[in-house]
Amino acid sequence: MGDCLFCKIVAGEIPATKVAESDDYFAFRDINPQAPTHVLAIPKRHVPSLNEAEDGPLLGGLVLFARDVARDAGLADDGYRVVINTNAGAGQTVFHVHAHLLGGRSMGWPPG
Ligand code: AMP
Ligand code: ZN
Repeated sequence: MGDCLFCKIVAGEIPATKVAESDDYFAFRDINPQAPTHVLAIPKRHVPSLNEAEDGPLLGGLVLFARDVARDAGLADDGYRVVINTNAGAGQTVFHVHAHLLGGRSMGWPPG
């Protein structure tokens, strides 16, 4: 927690481009966007990864929060992707659980 990049963004200690905020969640633009819209949605509470997540309502609320950000960005009809990379093999590099919201272009499947 003390050294967590995303906790520092929530605390305002590291700058980020905020997209949305609620009591429990924060959304900001990814610094290295992979799509025209690439937003990271996080719980304000520190949870390292999906592996450690025990609070179902917090995780469910995170998905709904990302859905609301997608809707507000005008992505609901065309479609978007919400991704939670979990541990190194899936590409997780920041160990504060986060949902990538990607949209604004067509997406291939399976993901790389
Ligand atoms: P992941 O690889 O799934 O852990 O995703 C971490 C994401 O955080 C990557 O897409 C990075 O581009 C993004 N990222 C890293 N540092 C920052 C930062 N300071 N502000 C915004 N996004 C960041
Ligand atoms: Zn954190």
